[in-house]
Amino acid sequence: MGEGMTRRQVLGAAVAGAATLVLSAKPQAAEAPATSQSTTKPTWDEQIIDIHQHTNYHGRSNAALLHHQKRMGVTQTVLLPSGSNVNTQSTLLGKANGLYAGAGPIDTCVPIAQAHPHVYYFMANEVPDLPGARNTIEKWLKNGAVGIGESKFNVPCDSPEMQSLYELAAEYQVPILMHFQYETFNTGFANLEKMLKKFPKTHFIGHAQMMWANIDKNPQNVIQNYPKGKVDRGGLTDKYLSDYPNFHADMSAGSGLNALIRDEDHARWFIERHQDQMLFGSDCEDVAGVSPRCTGANMITAIQRLAPNKEAMRKLLYKNAQKLLKLT
Ligand SMILES: [Zn+2]
Ligand SMILES: [Zn+2]
Repeated sequence: MGEGMTRRQVLGAAVAGAATLVLSAKPQAAEAPATSQSTTKPTWDEQIIDIHQHTNYHGRSNAALLHHQKRMGVTQTVLLPSGSNVNTQSTLLGKANGLYAGAGPIDTCVPIAQAHPHVYYFMANEVPDLPGARNTIEKWLKNGAVGIGESKFNVPCDSPEMQSLYELAAEYQVPILMHFQYETFNTGFANLEKMLKKFPKTHFIGHAQMMWANIDKNPQNVIQNYPKGKVDRGGLTDKYLSDYPNFHADMSAGSGLNALIRDEDHARWFIERHQDQMLFGSDCEDVAGVSPRCTGANMITAIQRLAPNKEAMRKLLYKNAQKLLKLT
Protein backbone atom coordinates (compact mmCIF):
# COMPACT_ATOMS: atom_id res chain seq x y z
CA MET A 1 0.00 0.00 0.00
CA GLY A 2 0.97 3.65 -0.04
CA GLU A 3 2.88 3.49 3.20
CA GLY A 4 4.86 0.46 2.03
CA MET A 5 5.77 2.20 -1.20
CA THR A 6 7.08 5.18 0.72
CA ARG A 7 9.25 2.99 2.87
CA ARG A 8 10.67 1.17 -0.13
CA GLN A 9 11.44 4.48 -1.80
CA VAL A 10 13.17 5.72 1.33
CA LEU A 11 15.21 2.52 1.56
CA GLY A 12 16.10 2.72 -2.11
CA ALA A 13 17.31 6.29 -1.68
CA ALA A 14 19.38 5.35 1.35
CA VAL A 15 21.07 2.50 -0.51
CA ALA A 16 21.77 4.72 -3.52
CA GLY A 17 23.36 7.34 -1.25
CA ALA A 18 25.49 4.72 0.43
CA ALA A 19 26.70 3.38 -2.92
CA THR A 20 28.00 6.84 -3.83
CA LEU A 21 29.82 6.89 -0.51
CA VAL A 22 31.54 3.57 -1.19
CA LEU A 23 32.69 4.61 -4.64
CA SER A 24 34.39 7.73 -3.34
CA ALA A 25 36.34 5.76 -0.80
CA LYS A 26 38.84 8.37 0.49
CA PRO A 27 38.07 8.79 4.20
CA GLN A 28 38.14 12.62 4.24
CA ALA A 29 36.43 13.23 0.92
CA ALA A 30 33.96 10.40 1.30
CA GLU A 31 31.41 12.45 3.22
CA ALA A 32 31.27 15.40 0.86
CA PRO A 33 29.47 13.88 -2.15
CA ALA A 34 26.86 12.11 -0.03
CA THR A 35 26.14 15.24 2.04
CA SER A 36 25.87 17.62 -0.90
CA GLN A 37 23.79 15.10 -2.83
CA SER A 38 21.13 14.96 -0.13
CA THR A 39 20.84 18.70 0.46
CA THR A 40 17.14 18.44 1.27
CA LYS A 41 16.66 17.77 4.96
CA PRO A 42 15.01 14.42 5.64
CA THR A 43 11.33 14.78 6.45
CA TRP A 44 9.95 13.66 9.81
CA ASP A 45 8.71 10.53 8.05
CA GLU A 46 12.24 9.55 7.15
CA GLN A 47 14.18 10.46 10.27
CA ILE A 48 15.51 7.69 12.47
CA ILE A 49 17.50 8.25 15.67
CA ASP A 50 19.90 5.50 16.73
CA ILE A 51 20.52 5.99 20.45
CA HIS A 52 23.23 3.33 20.75
CA GLN A 53 26.42 3.14 18.71
CA HIS A 54 30.14 2.99 19.46
CA THR A 55 33.37 4.14 17.86
CA ASN A 56 36.19 1.61 17.27
CA TYR A 57 33.64 -1.19 17.83
CA HIS A 58 35.84 -4.31 17.65
CA GLY A 59 38.19 -2.27 15.49
CA ARG A 60 35.65 -0.80 13.02
CA SER A 61 36.95 2.41 11.43
CA ASN A 62 35.15 5.76 11.63
CA ALA A 63 34.53 5.71 7.87
CA ALA A 64 32.92 2.28 8.19
CA LEU A 65 30.81 3.47 11.14
CA LEU A 66 29.49 6.48 9.18
CA HIS A 67 28.81 4.26 6.19
CA HIS A 68 27.01 1.70 8.39
CA GLN A 69 24.69 4.35 9.84
CA LYS A 70 23.78 5.69 6.38
CA ARG A 71 23.06 2.24 4.98
CA MET A 72 20.77 1.50 7.91
CA GLY A 73 18.81 4.63 7.06
CA VAL A 74 19.69 6.34 10.34
CA THR A 75 19.69 10.15 10.23
CA GLN A 76 20.91 10.90 13.79
CA THR A 77 23.25 8.82 15.92
CA VAL A 78 24.26 8.93 19.58
CA LEU A 79 27.79 7.65 20.27
CA LEU A 80 28.37 6.01 23.64
CA PRO A 81 31.98 6.17 24.86
CA SER A 82 33.79 3.80 27.20
CA GLY A 83 35.26 4.92 30.52
CA SER A 84 38.96 4.97 31.44
CA ASN A 85 41.05 1.84 31.01
CA VAL A 86 41.55 0.65 34.58
CA ASN A 87 42.15 -2.64 36.32
CA THR A 88 39.35 -2.73 38.91
CA GLN A 89 36.63 -5.13 40.00
CA SER A 90 34.14 -2.83 38.31
CA THR A 91 35.86 -3.44 34.93
CA LEU A 92 36.21 -7.18 35.66
CA LEU A 93 39.93 -6.57 36.24
CA GLY A 94 40.27 -4.73 32.95
CA LYS A 95 38.52 -7.37 30.83
CA ALA A 96 35.48 -5.14 30.40
CA ASN A 97 37.43 -1.99 29.56
CA GLY A 98 36.06 -0.55 26.34
CA LEU A 99 32.61 -1.78 27.39
CA TYR A 100 33.70 -5.37 26.60
CA ALA A 101 33.53 -4.45 22.93
CA GLY A 102 36.65 -2.44 22.20
CA ALA A 103 34.48 0.71 22.25
CA GLY A 104 36.41 3.99 22.02
CA PRO A 105 36.62 6.60 24.79
CA ILE A 106 35.06 10.05 24.58
CA ASP A 107 37.94 11.65 22.67
CA THR A 108 37.05 9.36 19.74
CA CYS A 109 33.38 10.42 19.85
CA VAL A 110 33.55 14.20 20.24
CA PRO A 111 35.38 14.91 16.93
CA ILE A 112 32.74 12.99 14.98
CA ALA A 113 29.95 14.96 16.67
CA GLN A 114 31.78 18.22 16.01
CA ALA A 115 32.32 17.36 12.34
CA HIS A 116 28.65 16.35 11.90
CA PRO A 117 26.52 18.76 13.95
CA HIS A 118 22.86 17.69 14.37
CA VAL A 119 23.75 14.28 12.93
CA TYR A 120 26.12 12.79 15.53
CA TYR A 121 25.87 13.28 19.29
CA PHE A 122 27.74 11.81 22.25
CA MET A 123 27.11 10.79 25.81
CA ALA A 124 29.58 11.03 28.72
CA ASN A 125 30.96 8.08 30.64
CA GLU A 126 33.40 6.98 33.33
CA VAL A 127 34.02 3.93 35.51
CA PRO A 128 31.59 4.87 38.30
CA ASP A 129 33.73 3.86 41.31
CA LEU A 130 36.81 5.79 40.19
CA PRO A 131 37.50 8.84 42.32
CA GLY A 132 36.44 11.83 40.25
CA ALA A 133 34.06 9.86 38.02
CA ARG A 134 31.26 12.27 38.73
CA ASN A 135 33.46 15.29 37.91
CA THR A 136 34.70 13.75 34.67
CA ILE A 137 31.15 13.09 33.53
CA GLU A 138 29.97 16.51 34.63
CA LYS A 139 32.71 18.18 32.60
CA TRP A 140 31.36 16.54 29.43
CA LEU A 141 27.74 17.29 30.32
CA LYS A 142 28.77 20.93 30.38
CA ASN A 143 30.32 20.42 26.96
CA GLY A 144 27.43 19.02 24.99
CA ALA A 145 27.02 15.40 26.11
CA VAL A 146 23.35 14.44 25.73
CA GLY A 147 23.36 11.74 28.41
CA ILE A 148 25.42 9.44 30.63
CA GLY A 149 26.38 6.06 29.17
CA GLU A 150 26.87 3.39 28.31
CA SER A 151 27.19 2.53 31.98
CA LYS A 152 28.35 -1.10 31.80
CA PHE A 153 30.30 -1.93 34.92
CA ASN A 154 30.32 -4.63 37.56
CA VAL A 155 28.61 -2.62 40.30
CA PRO A 156 25.22 -3.06 41.96
CA CYS A 157 22.63 -0.86 40.27
CA ASP A 158 21.75 0.58 43.69
CA SER A 159 25.36 1.22 44.76
CA PRO A 160 26.34 4.65 46.15
CA GLU A 161 28.50 5.28 43.04
CA MET A 162 25.58 4.72 40.71
CA GLN A 163 23.27 6.77 42.93
CA SER A 164 25.67 9.67 42.61
CA LEU A 165 25.33 9.43 38.82
CA TYR A 166 21.54 9.22 39.03
CA GLU A 167 21.61 12.52 40.94
CA LEU A 168 23.91 14.06 38.36
CA ALA A 169 21.64 12.94 35.50
CA ALA A 170 18.66 14.60 37.18
CA GLU A 171 20.65 17.77 37.84
CA TYR A 172 21.56 18.10 34.13
CA GLN A 173 18.21 16.74 32.91
CA VAL A 174 19.83 14.04 30.81
CA PRO A 175 19.10 10.29 30.83
CA ILE A 176 21.49 7.57 32.00
CA LEU A 177 21.81 4.51 29.74
CA MET A 178 22.63 1.28 31.59
CA HIS A 179 23.59 -2.23 30.49
CA PHE A 180 21.96 -4.85 32.75
CA GLN A 181 23.49 -8.32 32.71
CA TYR A 182 22.96 -11.05 35.28
CA GLU A 183 25.66 -11.03 37.97
CA THR A 184 27.95 -9.12 35.59
CA PHE A 185 26.91 -5.51 34.94
CA ASN A 186 24.59 -3.24 36.99
CA THR A 187 23.70 -6.21 39.13
CA GLY A 188 20.51 -6.66 41.14
CA PHE A 189 17.91 -5.74 38.52
CA ALA A 190 15.16 -6.33 41.10
CA ASN A 191 16.68 -3.51 43.19
CA LEU A 192 16.28 -1.00 40.38
CA GLU A 193 12.71 -0.34 41.47
CA LYS A 194 13.97 1.36 44.64
CA MET A 195 16.10 3.63 42.44
CA LEU A 196 13.20 4.45 40.10
CA LYS A 197 11.24 5.50 43.18
CA LYS A 198 14.05 7.33 44.92
CA PHE A 199 15.08 9.31 41.82
CA PRO A 200 11.81 10.24 40.07
CA LYS A 201 13.51 13.06 38.14
CA THR A 202 16.18 10.75 36.72
CA HIS A 203 15.40 9.13 33.38
CA PHE A 204 16.81 5.60 33.25
CA ILE A 205 17.31 3.90 29.87
CA GLY A 206 17.58 0.14 30.37
CA HIS A 207 19.52 -1.98 27.91
CA ALA A 208 20.78 -5.54 27.40
CA GLN A 209 20.13 -9.15 28.36
CA MET A 210 18.85 -8.87 31.92
CA MET A 211 16.38 -6.12 31.08
CA TRP A 212 14.98 -7.87 28.01
CA ALA A 213 14.85 -11.32 29.64
CA ASN A 214 12.68 -9.69 32.32
CA ILE A 215 9.79 -8.95 29.98
CA ASP A 216 9.03 -12.52 31.13
CA LYS A 217 8.03 -13.46 34.66
CA ASN A 218 8.97 -17.13 34.30
CA PRO A 219 11.84 -17.60 36.78
CA GLN A 220 13.57 -20.07 34.44
CA ASN A 221 13.72 -17.45 31.69
CA VAL A 222 14.55 -14.27 33.57
CA ILE A 223 18.21 -15.03 34.23
CA GLN A 224 18.98 -16.37 30.76
CA ASN A 225 20.74 -14.05 28.34
CA TYR A 226 18.61 -14.88 25.28
CA PRO A 227 15.53 -16.88 26.37
CA LYS A 228 13.44 -18.33 23.55
CA GLY A 229 9.78 -19.15 23.08
CA LYS A 230 6.53 -17.71 24.37
CA VAL A 231 6.76 -14.91 26.90
CA ASP A 232 5.02 -15.32 30.23
CA ARG A 233 3.60 -11.78 30.48
CA GLY A 234 4.11 -9.48 33.41
CA GLY A 235 7.83 -9.54 34.18
CA LEU A 236 9.78 -6.84 36.02
CA THR A 237 10.54 -4.86 32.87
CA ASP A 238 6.85 -4.67 32.03
CA LYS A 239 6.19 -3.51 35.59
CA TYR A 240 8.91 -0.85 35.54
CA LEU A 241 7.68 0.55 32.23
CA SER A 242 4.07 0.51 33.43
CA ASP A 243 4.64 2.04 36.86
CA TYR A 244 7.53 4.45 36.24
CA PRO A 245 7.43 7.09 33.50
CA ASN A 246 11.16 7.67 34.20
CA PHE A 247 12.07 4.19 32.91
CA HIS A 248 12.73 3.67 29.18
CA ALA A 249 13.76 0.67 27.08
CA ASP A 250 16.69 0.70 24.65
CA MET A 251 15.76 -1.81 21.93
CA SER A 252 19.31 -2.27 20.61
CA ALA A 253 21.48 -5.36 20.18
CA GLY A 254 20.70 -9.07 20.01
CA SER A 255 18.90 -8.88 23.36
CA GLY A 256 16.36 -6.33 22.13
CA LEU A 257 15.81 -8.10 18.82
CA ASN A 258 15.46 -11.51 20.51
CA ALA A 259 12.87 -10.08 22.89
CA LEU A 260 10.70 -9.04 19.94
CA ILE A 261 11.05 -12.01 17.62
CA ARG A 262 10.87 -14.82 20.22
CA ASP A 263 7.11 -14.19 20.54
CA GLU A 264 5.71 -11.70 18.05
CA ASP A 265 2.19 -11.75 19.51
CA HIS A 266 3.69 -10.66 22.80
CA ALA A 267 5.85 -8.07 21.03
CA ARG A 268 2.80 -6.43 19.42
CA TRP A 269 1.08 -6.24 22.79
CA PHE A 270 4.23 -4.95 24.50
CA ILE A 271 4.91 -2.22 21.92
CA GLU A 272 1.31 -1.04 21.99
CA ARG A 273 1.51 -0.80 25.80
CA HIS A 274 4.91 0.86 26.08
CA GLN A 275 5.13 2.82 22.83
CA ASP A 276 5.98 6.06 24.66
CA GLN A 277 9.03 4.58 26.43
CA MET A 278 10.75 2.44 23.78
CA LEU A 279 13.72 3.71 21.80
CA PHE A 280 15.39 2.32 18.69
CA GLY A 281 19.11 1.61 18.90
CA SER A 282 21.45 -0.60 16.89
CA ASP A 283 24.60 -1.36 18.96
CA CYS A 284 25.93 -3.56 16.16
CA GLU A 285 29.53 -3.89 15.05
CA ASP A 286 29.05 -4.96 11.43
CA VAL A 287 30.13 -2.86 8.47
CA ALA A 288 27.19 -3.84 6.23
CA GLY A 289 24.34 -1.82 7.75
CA VAL A 290 21.81 -4.05 5.98
CA SER A 291 20.06 -7.36 6.67
CA PRO A 292 20.79 -10.11 7.41
CA ARG A 293 24.06 -9.23 9.21
CA CYS A 294 23.00 -5.92 10.71
CA THR A 295 21.04 -6.14 13.99
CA GLY A 296 20.00 -2.49 13.68
CA ALA A 297 18.58 -2.96 10.17
CA ASN A 298 16.78 -6.09 11.37
CA MET A 299 15.35 -4.14 14.30
CA ILE A 300 14.03 -1.35 12.04
CA THR A 301 12.23 -3.99 9.95
CA ALA A 302 10.85 -5.64 13.11
CA ILE A 303 9.55 -2.30 14.42
CA GLN A 304 7.87 -1.57 11.08
CA ARG A 305 6.26 -5.02 11.18
CA LEU A 306 5.19 -5.13 14.82
CA ALA A 307 4.17 -1.56 15.69
CA PRO A 308 0.38 -1.28 15.90
CA ASN A 309 0.27 1.80 13.68
CA LYS A 310 2.43 4.40 12.00
CA GLU A 311 2.32 6.82 14.92
CA ALA A 312 3.70 4.18 17.31
CA MET A 313 6.37 3.23 14.77
CA ARG A 314 7.50 6.86 14.51
CA LYS A 315 7.65 7.13 18.30
CA LEU A 316 10.01 4.15 18.53
CA LEU A 317 12.21 5.17 15.61
CA TYR A 318 12.38 8.88 16.27
CA LYS A 319 10.01 10.83 18.48
CA ASN A 320 10.69 9.27 21.89
CA ALA A 321 14.47 9.67 21.53
CA GLN A 322 14.20 13.19 20.15
CA LYS A 323 12.13 14.22 23.16
CA LEU A 324 14.12 12.39 25.85
CA LEU A 325 17.55 13.43 24.56
CA LYS A 326 16.34 16.86 23.41
CA LEU A 327 18.13 16.46 20.09
CA THR A 328 18.09 19.46 17.77
ZN1 LIG B 1 26.67 -0.86 23.58
ZN1 LIG C 1 24.57 -3.06 11.99
